[in-house]
Amino acid sequence: MMLEAVIGLEIHVQLRTMTKLFCADVATAAAEPNTQVCPACLGLPGALPALNRAAVALAVRAALGLGCTVHRTSVFERKSYFYPDLPKGYQITQAARPLATDGTFESVRIRRLHLEEDAGRLLHDRVAGSTAVDLNRAGVPLIEIVTEPDLRDAAGTRAFLTRLRRALLHLEVSDCEMQNGSLRVDANVSVNAPGRAAPAVRTELKNLNSFAHVQHALEYEIDRQTRILEEGGTVEPETLLWDASAGRTRRTRGKESDSDYRFHPDPDVPPLTITDAWVAEVRRNMPELPAAKAARFAAAYDLPPEDIEVLTADPALASYFEAVAQRVDAKAAAGWVMTEVLGWLHRHDSRIEGVSVDAQALADLIRLVEQGRVSRQAARRAFTIMAESGRPAAEVVAEHGLTQVRDESRIAEWVDRTLAEFPEEVASYRAGRTRIMAFFVGHIMKLSGGTADPQRSTALLRERLER
Ligand code: ADP
Ligand code: MG
Repeated sequence: MMLEAVIGLEIHVQLRTMTKLFCADVATAAAEPNTQVCPACLGLPGALPALNRAAVALAVRAALGLGCTVHRTSVFERKSYFYPDLPKGYQITQAARPLATDGTFESVRIRRLHLEEDAGRLLHDRVAGSTAVDLNRAGVPLIEIVTEPDLRDAAGTRAFLTRLRRALLHLEVSDCEMQNGSLRVDANVSVNAPGRAAPAVRTELKNLNSFAHVQHALEYEIDRQTRILEEGGTVEPETLLWDASAGRTRRTRGKESDSDYRFHPDPDVPPLTITDAWVAEVRRNMPELPAAKAARFAAAYDLPPEDIEVLTADPALASYFEAVAQRVDAKAAAGWVMTEVLGWLHRHDSRIEGVSVDAQALADLIRLVEQGRVSRQAARRAFTIMAESGRPAAEVVAEHGLTQVRDESRIAEWVDRTLAEFPEEVASYRAGRTRIMAFFVGHIMKLSGGTADPQRSTALLRERLER
């Protein structure tokens, strides 16, 4: 029996707004628990919600970026259920009439995109022996993006999510950090004979804390369902939690049907009207999407596709690169950003916003290398010092003695010391193993703290070795 997986995603994205969706509380989670709350998001009797225009604008931008049709009228409904992190007893969301529908992104159809408010959070480690509730997040604006079941395998789903996240970052609608919950993914999966319509029975995977977890959970679940079907069994529709440390899914509860939530229009929130003029305004202010940026970089900077992929992964990195490339040769700029800057960010678990070498400072350093005043190796050291101190290139180079030495007599000193130290290597060079030239040059670099001009050093070495 040939079986095929069918996968559809529900993706929650926290919008980057100052305040919550229906009240003026600050929408950041960083504050002390229960300090960003008010009668409206606590659901106190008589408090009225007021829709946040900025959140709507970001949702419209996301919808347009994913090729959706934005509807003139959409309706906020109450989704009622009981849970301790939901003080109102219902979530305001959009159900029957969502903000936007019918998009496509990377060949995956987007069924709908709607606005809703987040719930609070349960804290299990705050009060010994009890569970505490933090309602700062209650009412924070989210968009939910629902795809059609167009994905077919675990690795492809992960690749899709990586591209979707990249697009949302470029659209500047969210910081999309899975660790802090501003991007959350639920994956629906079923297994089917290819060519036939997707079967009704699917499971929903939750508790997916990274794209790697999404992939692993899907691989596990596709395997599990395949085995059940091959043995002639039936798959139960259910919600499963991914247990990453055990590498398996666990049962929670059966899937509830929509009617359990008693959806009905919220009597306190009027239908949302979005005029053509508003859509046009959002369109005018759309940031550049990754595909357009990549095409522009290819035309403007003559870089290989792999480099462009790396440089456009994050919009902040892309604009940093562009700011450097406007000041020095683009290839040199790309090389420095991809090796030194990304290496530094990786070692310090930081983002480009956190590096204290701005584009001007990096361009200055690259120019010193291009002028032959600093060797590539010494410049790497200078970069590290600049990143730690935030000081300009010329100052760091001068102060730390990193200026390239081109003076023949000083280079000759290092050359002679090196040749005296390694007589066997000298003999083997003279016997024809000329490849060890790199070893001699490396040693001169070590002696000179990376300041010796490598070209002059090589020339002088050759002169001495070949006479
Ligand atoms: P519900 O009405 O229960 O919310 P939907 O049909 O609206 O279910 O789909 C919810 C999510 O499940 C969507 O992301 C959709 O792509 C996905 N989905 C639907 N059918 C399947 C299927 N057979 N296999 C996998 N995913 C599916
Ligand atoms: Mg849903």
